[in-house]
Amino acid sequence: MKEPFQMQTDAITFLQDWNNLSPNILAGFTTKRGGTSSGAFTSNNLGLHVNDTNLNVKENRRLLADLLQFPLENWACAEQVHEDHIVKISKDLTGYGTLNYQDSIKGTDGFYTTETNTLLALCYADCVPIYYMAPEHHTIGIAHAGWKGSVKNIAGKMVELWKINESIPSTEIYAAIGPSIGPCCYMVDDRVIKEVNDILSSSQISNSPYEKVSHDQYSLDLKKLNLLLLLNAGIDRANILVSQYCTSCEKSLFFSHRRDNGKTGRMLSFIGFKNT
Ligand SMILES: [Zn+2]
Repeated sequence: MKEPFQMQTDAITFLQDWNNLSPNILAGFTTKRGGTSSGAFTSNNLGLHVNDTNLNVKENRRLLADLLQFPLENWACAEQVHEDHIVKISKDLTGYGTLNYQDSIKGTDGFYTTETNTLLALCYADCVPIYYMAPEHHTIGIAHAGWKGSVKNIAGKMVELWKINESIPSTEIYAAIGPSIGPCCYMVDDRVIKEVNDILSSSQISNSPYEKVSHDQYSLDLKKLNLLLLLNAGIDRANILVSQYCTSCEKSLFFSHRRDNGKTGRMLSFIGFKNT
């Protein structure tokens, strides 16, 4: 299968296939290349909260805004807390948290919007970025799903919110699962697997996203877990793209919280409708 996230510049991968669905969509995931950060954050760190100098991160964000031709005042940024809270972004909620972390939209791991010229942006270092689009309804979204957000089913919650608040049927939603840590590099223990089993059984999903490797050690496929939850929420399999990139394996392209022992930078997922 073709990798849906294709590099166009050194610093950014793009979800180009979605341009066939909506010509003015801009969706992608940054790489660690480009930017001005050094040390553990070399070089395109976009996280304001990770002890990199804020001057570097601000400059990296300005460079990205220029590359995307999407001004920072039109970005929406969050204080991400590994929960399942999702906020609908209107024009008056943009511009916060772009250069100052304290201004971020609090306690939020998912965004959606119906606006043009609004860029939804979240930070990652191994967690799963989930992109959503309903082109017929001019609606886009993004979610941040590490294991905690995944077992809270933030993946399915976005679909549910769109159904309830926007009257969008799940069959008209497209989703893409972006670069994140793969089962090759993601070992978890019984504590995590218990919660995975809880969400699988409450969702009546019989397929398993993990394998036992030794006593109290399992390789967990977070992308597959979220794929199963998106399917369970009613999105057609044909409408879901899945990246093959493992952020831990691809050391030259991505930061990885696991691989780098917690001291590392952040990539940014982004999605927006551009003015054409
Ligand atoms: Zn890997």
